[in-house]
Amino acid sequence: MFTDGRRRRVIFAAHCFLNQNSISDGTAVYPASFKGLISLMTENEIGIVQMPCPELMCLGLDRGNPNGADSPVTVENTRIRRAMLEKDKYARLEQLADSVIFQILEYRKHGFEILGIVGANRSPNCGVETTSDNNEEVAGKGLFMALLAKKLSAHGITIPMTGIKSDEDIPKIKDLFK
Ligand code: SF4
Repeated sequence: MFTDGRRRRVIFAAHCFLNQNSISDGTAVYPASFKGLISLMTENEIGIVQMPCPELMCLGLDRGNPNGADSPVTVENTRIRRAMLEKDKYARLEQLADSVIFQILEYRKHGFEILGIVGANRSPNCGVETTSDNNEEVAGKGLFMALLAKKLSAHGITIPMTGIKSDEDIPKIKDLFK
């Protein structure tokens, strides 16, 4: 099964790396996507699984604040973090994390290689090494990545996680498959 043209190896990536249009107002760094990430994955025959954007799916494209871009990023990010912790939003976040876990389990069940999960540092949801809280960038995972890590651990699965902010951080991703 699956002995066709596919290479059977993937990474899971934050939604906004492939679609900058999803990111909170004032924080997009590219017109459309992270070209360096896409090139690297294409050159190395690694499929990119685009995870859902938790903030878009839980709070909407404007994150519930049409003036979000007027505040410093970490201040707005902290507001977003608080909003995501509201009961209904967090329940939705759990569902989104479960949808990612389902895909991971499916790929693993069929012997595919999952090289890593690449998140967006400083994000209140997708940060891996850093996130935003108390109006500053702090060490630690965002809410979505923390949920993924917890659910993976419950399944006894270890997948490397790394965070980037732009194509300048691409060397960190190379470490996942060298
Ligand atoms: S970092 Fe995560 S929550 Fe923020 S725009 Fe990207 S995918 Fe959405």
